[in-house]
Amino acid sequence: FPAENIRNFSIIAHVDHGKSTLADRLLELTGEYQFLCNSVALIQSIDVFMSPLETISPKRDNQQVLDKLTVERERGITVKAQTCSMFYKFNEKQYLLNLIDTPGHVDFNYEVSRSLAACQGTLLLVDASQGIQAQTAANFWLAFNQDLTIIPVINKIDLEAADTERVINQIENSFELDTKDICRISAKSGLNVEDILPIVIEKIPPPSGDINGLLKAFLFDSWYDTYVGVICLMAIVDGKLQKGDKIVSAHSNLKYDVADIGIMHPERFSTEYLHAGQVGYVILNMKIASEAHIGDTFYHHKHPVDPLPGFEPAKPMVFAGIFPIDANEFNRLDESITKLTLNDASVSVQKETSMALGQGWRIGFLGTLHMDVFRQRLEEEYDASVIVTQPTVPYKIVYRDGTSKFVRNPSEFPEQNEMSNNVVQLQEPMVMATIIVPNEYLGNVMDLCGAHRGEQIEYNSLDELRVMMRYALPLAEIVTDFHDELKSRSSGYASFDYEDMGYQTSDVVKKMNVLINKKPVDALAAILHRSQVATVGRDWAKKLSDVIPKQLYEVAIQTAIGGKIVARETIPAIRKNVTAKCYGGDVTRKMKLLEKQKEGKKKMKMIGKMNLIMNEIDVHLLDF
Ligand code: GDP
Ligand code: MG
Repeated sequence: FPAENIRNFSIIAHVDHGKSTLADRLLELTGEYQFLCNSVALIQSIDVFMSPLETISPKRDNQQVLDKLTVERERGITVKAQTCSMFYKFNEKQYLLNLIDTPGHVDFNYEVSRSLAACQGTLLLVDASQGIQAQTAANFWLAFNQDLTIIPVINKIDLEAADTERVINQIENSFELDTKDICRISAKSGLNVEDILPIVIEKIPPPSGDINGLLKAFLFDSWYDTYVGVICLMAIVDGKLQKGDKIVSAHSNLKYDVADIGIMHPERFSTEYLHAGQVGYVILNMKIASEAHIGDTFYHHKHPVDPLPGFEPAKPMVFAGIFPIDANEFNRLDESITKLTLNDASVSVQKETSMALGQGWRIGFLGTLHMDVFRQRLEEEYDASVIVTQPTVPYKIVYRDGTSKFVRNPSEFPEQNEMSNNVVQLQEPMVMATIIVPNEYLGNVMDLCGAHRGEQIEYNSLDELRVMMRYALPLAEIVTDFHDELKSRSSGYASFDYEDMGYQTSDVVKKMNVLINKKPVDALAAILHRSQVATVGRDWAKKLSDVIPKQLYEVAIQTAIGGKIVARETIPAIRKNVTAKCYGGDVTRKMKLLEKQKEGKKKMKMIGKMNLIMNEIDVHLLDF
């Protein structure tokens, strides 16, 4: 397949603007094409060995084949980047179009950027009724910074609320893109979708690689498959990679045999080899998940090349403890987490032991949505029941002796006395947030940002109806319920995205402990801003007293900063009259029972303080 007949592209969009629907339509379209052209001519014209081609038959139930995972379907987001090759005939020439599906949410920018690295161009899809949203802007800048050809496409023109001309204006004003012959489509009905691929072929440059050069293969995605093990997605930049080849990782210097190679069509389809310009899957004899290093360059054994620039590793910024509800599940869960983390190079995992919750893990995520998706996948795909603790961000603590450390777990956060004796400075991570909001909700959203210690950096009208604002915000302020609040205060119309802004000094963050019968419960410790302590402290004590069932003894719940109690709730003991059933009668029996009750009480008191968290409290308690 000559490289000039190959196009590698992606679709970027704000969530729900129709990326998956469009991907389906394109696959369907190219599938249908192959039915129409007689496949004999096709097979002769391409040098991959394939049966008559069918990308997706329009008759098959193909609802969003690119979004393979259940979680994605449910949440309507694409978590894992998926790649699919399509064959398309245009101007009497056969083209190989590689569509690289990119996740669309703010937490997944890392995955978006590494998917983009395998493309030369991208379709910027915008909903005609909603216009540019925060993730549209964020994804545009990612693509722009990678020098990709960006083709704007307006979707959902079938909607009554569509205001196509206004959206085209926004695209011109904000991104300075050429909108002269912009595609106006309905991915849902398929209207005008056929106009897209010719434009992709005309505007996006083919990959520039040397088929006869030394092999240079770029690993941009990988996942774990239960049947075949680690599967890598690679873009072949130069040369040719064949089944049976021996290749070496520039990152680790480890040598591998190519066990299988092919394209995603959309399922794996073995092709014996891939050459410069092509994108496909490669199965190597990798033993463990973490060997597939995203951003790695592979070359032929004994023919080293200069590696391509890799990726900045994604920095997990939201940390939470994850514990099995049933301690016996630890090993199985450990395996599941290992498999899931291969699917997601941006997660960090560390073992952790909690007095209250037992053995578990401290897991780092890119954001809270990322965390929710991880938990949901663990539960759905691996059938695990877990407790997830309150998420925290990494704080940097600078000590009097000049050393410093990052704290990712509230239990490691210095207590009040250590704070005043040994710590000279506390720093917290900041983000630069982009918020797009209709004028009528502007006041609400500004109030919300103010309440979360936000500082307005920029204010621009996007058009006569909407405003784009930039705020510096502490990350800790947006990892809890900021998204939900923003949505509810803007009736769902505000959109939000953020990028990392480094660390800033903060002298007002405190560690709050939750004490049950005077003993701190490690898993419930939280790091809070001074202004939150009173409300959150009261709130937590109240919530806990609501969910902890009555015990045979009195349970005192306190929240405290250092030695200072913020709030207290008491759950009175159950008065169980065990002798009631005995009709007076046998005194020895009565004594025995009373003795038993006392013993039971003692035992409960001992283990109760900690274990009650595990056994008695609804697991969702820890989500608040
Ligand atoms: P994604 O999050 O960008 O992948 O968006 P989806 O493809 O999942 O689409 C989100 C929702 O918009 C789905 O309910 C689609 O059926 C709907 N949708 C997508 N394209 C169109 C369109 O052209 N017109 C209408 N009316 N709805 C659409
Ligand atoms: Mg989708």
